[in-house]
Amino acid sequence: MPIEENNTLNDAITSFAGQIFLRGEPGYEEARTARIWHANRPDRFPEAILLAKNESDLVNGVRLARQKGWSVAVRSGGHSFPVWSVRDSGLLIDLGGYKEMSYDADSQIVTATSAIKGGDELNPYLKQFGRYFGAGGCPSVGLGGFLLQGGMGWNFRGWGYACEQVVAIDIVTADGELVRAGENQNADLFWAARGIGPGFCGLISRFHLKTRALTDGVAVSMQAYPVERYEQVLKWLWDKHPDISDKVYFNAVSARPPMPIPGHDGGLVFMIWACAFCDSQEEAAEVLAPLKDCPYREDAIMVSDAQPTTLPEQLSLVDQLHPAGLYYKVDSAWVDGPQQDIIKAMRTLVMDRQAEDTGYTFLIFRLPRPDDAPEIAMDLGTDLCVGAYIIHEDESADQKLRDWLRNAMGELEPYTVGQNWGDSDQTFREVKCLTDETWSRYQKIRDERDPEGVFHAHLAGPGGFQNRNGWEKGE
Ligand SMILES: Cc1cc2nc3c(=O)[nH]c(=O)nc-3n(C[C@H](O)[C@H](O)[C@H](O)COP(=O)(O)OP(=O)(O)OC[C@H]3O[C@@H](n4cnc5c(N)ncnc54)[C@H](O)[C@@H]3O)c2cc1C
Repeated sequence: MPIEENNTLNDAITSFAGQIFLRGEPGYEEARTARIWHANRPDRFPEAILLAKNESDLVNGVRLARQKGWSVAVRSGGHSFPVWSVRDSGLLIDLGGYKEMSYDADSQIVTATSAIKGGDELNPYLKQFGRYFGAGGCPSVGLGGFLLQGGMGWNFRGWGYACEQVVAIDIVTADGELVRAGENQNADLFWAARGIGPGFCGLISRFHLKTRALTDGVAVSMQAYPVERYEQVLKWLWDKHPDISDKVYFNAVSARPPMPIPGHDGGLVFMIWACAFCDSQEEAAEVLAPLKDCPYREDAIMVSDAQPTTLPEQLSLVDQLHPAGLYYKVDSAWVDGPQQDIIKAMRTLVMDRQAEDTGYTFLIFRLPRPDDAPEIAMDLGTDLCVGAYIIHEDESADQKLRDWLRNAMGELEPYTVGQNWGDSDQTFREVKCLTDETWSRYQKIRDERDPEGVFHAHLAGPGGFQNRNGWEKGE
């Protein structure tokens, strides 16, 4: 039953296939927090929470919010670190109970609802068709949050942001209408939904995504060095990166190794992890071969070259590194400037990670976007992103670790162009995730599409989200 202007709240509530919980009712707290993937629990409380079951619930949810004067927040996979979905006041529409997928063999396009998990659900479904999608490293991340913030998925370095594989999106607009957005229809929403992040002025029901052929040519090379070697190894990798094939995705990471390395005391190591996505194992070995040229290889405490692997195998490693239900703090910086200065500015982040923390510092490289790459909202334009995940079990260590992270990231301030939506926390300090041009273009779209603010704007601390860096250091 469609929601009409004159429905009472009770009429409206009974029209949903899913359940709605008002603040104070039994079940409300469970609905507010149970699907938050980590232990961070915000002190924010919506008026009502709708556990949607189908597309009509999405349309009716937005119409109800309009009628009640509520602002809408959305949850898909529940992974966002600052918990963007839980806002004060308004209606939270939780999409976790609305999951559908279909594949069209002619177009090789898969259609999936927003709460579908890229690694745990979409790719296992696509396997039967011999296809896959370059979803996020963490298999349980929801498509909705991941793609809205650009999406640094498998082979981000060579294939670009995952949102570049989106061909169309079904969106419930602020008017409560379900529309399709693509290159030639509602193109403003289509552009924005590919990178504008968690303040998008619409409710995404479905993504239509290009897929890739599954191949047997996935292989991984790894090198782990004593952390004291990071400056030399990183400089070498950074210089070498433009010459390495776009079929190789690599990260450099400072972490305590998750598994024992013979002869190593378990302390921090600096690791290169490189994964090739090729048509055959022979080709994978060929494109990974340049990594063997590292002049410090003799000092490595562990080396493995071009080992055949599969995406599920790699995903389960990522899962081990990111246990659910723990406390997470994250920060990131797209950097630009003199290489040696940046490498030195990372010293605390790489070499001084705190004992209570089982997280890591990462560097993600990317190649320049090709001239014919689609125009998307997410792109800060530099070729290196530095980030840090703090992962810990002890809530009482939270403040100390936050301060450490803020100070350590602050060292990179002179070289920071901006942050990643997914690896930052706007409630903790001001961040800039978009270019100035993108941000002002989006303001106009938002003003036109959602003049009454039916959808919550980007979450932020006091002063609202301004898309700028704030670098206050801890005490
Ligand atoms: C362990 C871990 C590893 C990660 N690894 C990666 C990675 O490899 N690459 C990467 O790019 N990111 C990564 N991320 C970041 C992740 O992609 C973002 O946090 C993303 O927002 C999570 O999406 P979600 O749907 O699970 O989250 P949610 O918390 O459900 O959603 C986040 C926000 O996105 C918006 N949103 C979601 N769905 C919709 C919708 N249907 N309509 C409108 N707005 C919507 C809402 O504002 C929502 O609050 C990782 C996160 C974690 C926890």
